[in-house]
Amino acid sequence: MTDKKNEDKNIEAKKKYYTELHDWKEQSMAGMIFEPGNSVYYETGSWRSMKPIWDADKCINCLRCFYLCPDSSILVDEDGKIAGIDYRYCKGCGICARECPEKINAIKMIVEGSDE
Ligand code: SF4
Ligand code: SF4
Repeated sequence: MTDKKNEDKNIEAKKKYYTELHDWKEQSMAGMIFEPGNSVYYETGSWRSMKPIWDADKCINCLRCFYLCPDSSILVDEDGKIAGIDYRYCKGCGICARECPEKINAIKMIVEGSDE
């Protein structure tokens, strides 16, 4: 198996491990974290019930949503402009929609799945 395939397999195994619920006996002592940055493997968007929809035409790139999103799910491109929402991690908390300037209203919240 190639290094790339091994790496992909390892990432998938970690995603599975960090997303599954574990018995208290399997938890680390005092909740210590032995792998810093492991939250990247936990795709919190999987249990979102509300979903933000971003309207690029309305957005004025003030970046308020970017700074205030607790999950770093607002994507910014290399020019420093909003590029979209990373739904793998967005929990649907609605902070971005709430904090988008009232007159702009470039993000609306919908029920998860209602746009499909
Ligand atoms: S709904 Fe919450 S988690 Fe999702 S992009 Fe907006 S602020 Fe971030
Ligand atoms: S808060 Fe609203 S206007 Fe500002 S960057 Fe985000 S989506 Fe665009």
